[in-house]
Amino acid sequence: MDFADSPDQAVFRGQVEDFFAKNFPAALAMRADEDPFSEEAMGGPATDKATAMKLWRAALVDKGWIAPAWPKEYGGADLSPMEQFILNETIAERNAPRVGVPDVGSTIMVHGTAEQKAEFLPPMVRGESRWCQGYSEPGSGSDLASLQTRAIRDGDDFVINGQKIWTSGAHLANMIFMLVRTDPEAPKHRGITYLLSPMNVPGIEVRPLVQMSDARGFNETFFEDVRVPVKNAVGEINRGWYVGATHLDFERSSIGSAVGQRKMLDTLKDYLIKERDSKSGKTRLGQVDAPRLEFADRYIEATVAKTLSQRVISMQARGLIPNYEASMTKVFATEFSQRIARTSTKLLGLYGGLRDRNSDYSPMKGRWATMYLSSVSATIAGGTSEIQRNVIATRGLGLPRG
Ligand SMILES: Cc1cc2nc3c(=O)[nH]c(=O)nc-3n(C[C@H](O)[C@H](O)[C@H](O)COP(=O)(O)OP(=O)(O)OC[C@H]3O[C@@H](n4cnc5c(N)ncnc54)[C@H](O)[C@@H]3O)c2cc1C
Repeated sequence: MDFADSPDQAVFRGQVEDFFAKNFPAALAMRADEDPFSEEAMGGPATDKATAMKLWRAALVDKGWIAPAWPKEYGGADLSPMEQFILNETIAERNAPRVGVPDVGSTIMVHGTAEQKAEFLPPMVRGESRWCQGYSEPGSGSDLASLQTRAIRDGDDFVINGQKIWTSGAHLANMIFMLVRTDPEAPKHRGITYLLSPMNVPGIEVRPLVQMSDARGFNETFFEDVRVPVKNAVGEINRGWYVGATHLDFERSSIGSAVGQRKMLDTLKDYLIKERDSKSGKTRLGQVDAPRLEFADRYIEATVAKTLSQRVISMQARGLIPNYEASMTKVFATEFSQRIARTSTKLLGLYGGLRDRNSDYSPMKGRWATMYLSSVSATIAGGTSEIQRNVIATRGLGLPRG
């Protein structure tokens, strides 16, 4: 693979830089001590960033860069995979908050009807719809095809009964995409349908699940006689398993994180160099050899993560669908985030475990201790590392199933 920009890519990179110079509001660049998922960083309503965020969103919508891969008629910009990578790289390098469309949009783009595209895609681009994912159930996670939530046809509707779990953001969402069982007699992969539903319909109840990092990220979602129009099924009825699998391929080939992880290390390095031990006057990074070498390993791994992402993108650029390659990227990126969290808390010594945002003793507002706790779930969400390794073993290495 040639890592240098082609002449066309160099021109595009220049256009992106130019766009950022003209449109990116300085107020939105995240500070080093800022939690990237805080309401403030997301430009939430409680902050003066909200106006800047609206302007930034409007500039991206205007350019089609909210959904850069989509065709122009649906608000996209028809960018090639490599151009998307250049755009994502610039967003991360500039510490700009991510503004995009949910992966369900790409699934609708591949499997949806013209009516579904017209109904569901434009509100995503305008930021009017917020989606959550209803796949997992109490008894069905890795073995997702065993899911039990029933959808029984009644005229032009499906009537849904059952329970989903770990539904991220369900308490904030106004739409859900889900997998439901429409034919209980069929073999388990064959009787599933991929369905879209508004959240504000009678019969849906959302109950919070609070994580050990104190964040309220996900929920239990209950369905009791919920009516969803049959026209909201994406792809063929009873063939939703394959539609759902497309979605997971998009989710796992997520390419934005590698540069962000290196930026995180840059931020930590700057902090450690600036902070000096009160007794010796030395920078914290220079004090002990072992963590210092560990930190160097993390930097090298940031380059490995980026190279793995580039492999996925170069395949997409050639029209190939990454499969075990996306699993490799997912395993590496998520385990890497846990290693970053461990190294950072180690380098910060006893203070590294503090995460009270308001305490002067918490380094960088406790960002690293929070990451230590929240990164645990990264190797479970979107398919566990064990499942990804099964994919790599069987499809990548051709090993027999155990
Ligand atoms: C932060 C977070 C956000 C999430 N968001 C959502 C969401 O929005 N929507 C949604 O539907 N789901 C969501 N999930 C759920 C997630 O997809 C499941 O947790 C995941 O697929 C694992 O399923 P499980 O929890 O049932 O574990 P299980 O499948 O019960 O697995 C338990 C353990 O057994 C291992 N294991 C299972 N089968 C095998 C096998 N064949 N070979 C080797 N090891 C195996 C697993 O790796 C794991 O270690 C989220 C999870 C997390 C942590």
